[in-house]
Amino acid sequence: MSDTVYSIALAGLLHDVGKFAERAGMDITPQYRDDNEHLYQPHYEGRSSHKHALYSAAFIERFSDLLPNLDDKATAKDGNSLINLAAMHHKPETPLQWIITQADRLSSGLDRQVFEGDESGTAYRDFRKTRLIPLAEEMQFGRKSGDTDTLESYGHRYRIREMSPEQVFPVSRSAAEPTDNDGALIEYKALFTVFLSHLSQLAHRDCPPLWIEHFTSLWERFTASIPAATVGKVIPDVSLYDHSRATAALATALYCYHNATDTLNETAVKAPSPEKFLLITGDFYGIQNFIFSSGGSTNKAAAKLLRGRSFAVSILSELAADRLCRRLGLPASSVLLDAAGKFTLIAPNIPETVEGLLAVEAELNSWLIQNYYGEVSIGFSSVAASPADFEKGRFPELWERLGKAADLKKYRKFDLAQSGVINNYLDTFDNTLSLCPFCGKRPADPKTRGDQYLGDNEAACLICRDHIHLGSKLVKSRTLAVITASVESTGSNLHS
Ligand SMILES: [Zn+2]
Repeated sequence: MSDTVYSIALAGLLHDVGKFAERAGMDITPQYRDDNEHLYQPHYEGRSSHKHALYSAAFIERFSDLLPNLDDKATAKDGNSLINLAAMHHKPETPLQWIITQADRLSSGLDRQVFEGDESGTAYRDFRKTRLIPLAEEMQFGRKSGDTDTLESYGHRYRIREMSPEQVFPVSRSAAEPTDNDGALIEYKALFTVFLSHLSQLAHRDCPPLWIEHFTSLWERFTASIPAATVGKVIPDVSLYDHSRATAALATALYCYHNATDTLNETAVKAPSPEKFLLITGDFYGIQNFIFSSGGSTNKAAAKLLRGRSFAVSILSELAADRLCRRLGLPASSVLLDAAGKFTLIAPNIPETVEGLLAVEAELNSWLIQNYYGEVSIGFSSVAASPADFEKGRFPELWERLGKAADLKKYRKFDLAQSGVINNYLDTFDNTLSLCPFCGKRPADPKTRGDQYLGDNEAACLICRDHIHLGSKLVKSRTLAVITASVESTGSNLHS
């Protein structure tokens, strides 16, 4: 994968870092402002607007030592340094800068709704005080989205805080919103300071794909409660994290599309057609049966096994998304959603994506059939989309199309060549052992003899052993690393 892909992804994630920095009161010298304002901020009716773009540039410049060094001399000379890619999004000049601008617009188009009942919306002077509105409040029965709403008609908000179990719950508006700007500034500043101290500790600056994965989770922790848009008529219900992650995914797919089709020019990048994107859903089937399956002869370790199995499903889903990203040459930030055994990612609509999709699906299913005998399987479905499909009001239709494609796929889980008898099933048994006592499906493996987690059971299959390990270590360990290792026999390659 070229460094440009990472520059584009990181520029997408960082393009609005200036909003965080500005609201936290990061200081910019008058000299810096005079020298750079005209570069990053559009000029309108005698005034410079979109001040956050200047702050994005200042942030990237000031903390460049904490970011991976992605700029080679050629890209920087062409105006495509990370700083320009990220901060020129309101004043783009090169095709690559236009890619971030377009991705930002499409990302806003898919997530932004306005107050229909409020003429003025939030005044600019209040931009620091605005707090994120919980989506659940918009889902109230009988309430239509944007339906004669005003800011006042929403009773709850999220506090500006780092992500935590407590922070999952919104609080009343008065408890979350500071009464004055000074109070609002203090809250942002506190969050920003801790964010910077964690940023300085991120490892692997010399390995951009890994660093971007670290950064994406740090970014989520610190910007999931920050509203992306805080002034005007926009309903502040989208976090800075969600907005920037979607921008990064869209920008990466746009770049890969135009690069592969040799159309990396301003006119083509700005064009609302053709279908440049492929939205992909990966769906695990049979999860419920797998997690709650019984059939073994023992109920020992039932809680550990249940915990381990449900965790295994979520990690398998993440690993499937990761496998697909690697095959398609996309960074991890291209995965938009990943929850409950289902993920969605945005890829470029080029033949290589379709080929990669089919190859990875076949590879994963053959592994699943070998190890889970078809009890669990995965299906990839996709729909092509044009930039126009992300524009205001049209996204729900696209989302529905993707859902229907996933439903269709569900009923054609395996192709016939893959399903049927499990080859060599009986040969996989050790003559001295029988079926695994936990699942009652796979042969017990002699390698698990004497394992401390199996209690008085003589042995288990490798997969149940792994799941029991996971289930017991999940509650005791602080970290988990997934590493690539050579796979012995038919065992799982999960290590905790
Ligand atoms: Zn088993």
